Amino acid sequence: MSKPETSIRDTRTMYYVVKNASDVPGLSSTQVYEAVAQAFSIWSAYTPLVFIRKTEDQEGYYSIDFWDFGNLNSALGLSNPVSKSIDINIAHTLMLDKYRNNVEPQAEQYDLVSAIAHEIGHCLFYDDGHSETGGGIMMHFQPPIDIIRIPNAEEIDKAQSKAGIMFLSDTIPFNLDTAIRENENDRVTFSKSGEKIVASGEERTTCEFSLTEDDLKEKRLNSLVIRAKLFSKYAILNKVELYDGATLLSRQYLSFSSQSSAPLTKIFKIGLNKKPVIKNGLKIKIELRFTDYLSGTASPSINKIEIKSIKAETIRHYSNVVLGTQTP
Ligand SMILES: [Zn+2]
Repeated sequence: MSKPETSIRDTRTMYYVVKNASDVPGLSSTQVYEAVAQAFSIWSAYTPLVFIRKTEDQEGYYSIDFWDFGNLNSALGLSNPVSKSIDINIAHTLMLDKYRNNVEPQAEQYDLVSAIAHEIGHCLFYDDGHSETGGGIMMHFQPPIDIIRIPNAEEIDKAQSKAGIMFLSDTIPFNLDTAIRENENDRVTFSKSGEKIVASGEERTTCEFSLTEDDLKEKRLNSLVIRAKLFSKYAILNKVELYDGATLLSRQYLSFSSQSSAPLTKIFKIGLNKKPVIKNGLKIKIELRFTDYLSGTASPSINKIEIKSIKAETIRHYSNVVLGTQTP
């Protein structure tokens, strides 16, 4: 009598609406919707929750509204856990893709996804304060330019104590040797093996490649885990798109680099809000960017990224959801 399929929809689905997306300076409505979806996906990666956007004229359980708070209030965002409403202050300069136009990031830009993810965290899990341990999304203060997209252990614990725990079944590794370059560019070197994908580029170059995994057919996808070594702040794991066949499931701007001159190996977990059953095969498309903004010319040895593994996590079952049934 177990019915995991229906219970996903009945008790774990949370609807939301996005208001005034077209008012955000410098970003299209589509980009704002993508930023909101990405912010929700940070939490859905670790919990059984499913998040679905409704159009603005529909009643939503959560609302994310964009407006100018004016001079009296310089907060980046506000949240009301009772009314489940989130307000983001468009008086600040908000960025989605830090390196999108090959322009040096401005000092006063704030990462939109980090800001929304923080306010969602207040609405769902942290109605009573902020994270007590460092390095997470629910810190009291978000500095400009910083990309804060990975919850710390305390935040994951808190989210799971309220939203339930997810039990994963298969973890399916992509065969890195099957990577295909999407854009040929002789200023970027690219090599692949079963062990790793290595790319390095001259200043202001981009490298896109894709991989497809057919073993995910008929499986319910929760998240994707990428392990990457970023050799400096000039080598950026910028954008990840996921497709089921030709259908776009998710587009996420990671804008991640090592943030310093030392190499950093990092694990990125990318959640899928709808936890979809894959029909055709999962394709992942990754965009890497190489820059020289801060130092003149960065050498290929530090303008380099290694992708060490890409794994898809599929769902077996969930524990009970403590947040309760949500009806829009
Ligand atoms: Zn806060």
